[in-house]
Amino acid sequence: MIIEELIIVWVIAAFLGLITAVIADKKGRNSVIWWFFGTALFIVALPLILILDPIEGSGHKKRCPKCAEWIGRQAMVCRFCCYEYGPTDDLRIVSS
Ligand SMILES: [Zn+2]
Repeated sequence: MIIEELIIVWVIAAFLGLITAVIADKKGRNSVIWWFFGTALFIVALPLILILDPIEGSGHKKRCPKCAEWIGRQAMVCRFCCYEYGPTDDLRIVSS
C-alpha cells in the first residue's frame, strides 16, 4: 500500500520536474539538471527558472541590440522597437 502511494507521489513529482525542464530548455539551460531540481524541489525550482534570463546565444531567444528586449531566435524584426536584423546581427550576438 505505502509503495503504491510513494510511486504516485514520485510520478507527480517527476511530472512537475518536467515543467521546469521544458522552461529551462527554452531558456537555453540544462534541462536534465533542471528536471532533477524541479522533481526534488518544485516549489523553489519553478519560480527560480521563471525569473532567470535566457542564456544569450542559446535556446529560443535572442536579445535585441537596440532595445535589449528578448525576442524569438528566428525573428528578423524586433516586436518591441521594429529593429530589423541583418545577416551579421546573429553572428555578433553569438560572439559577444
Ligand atoms: Zn528591439
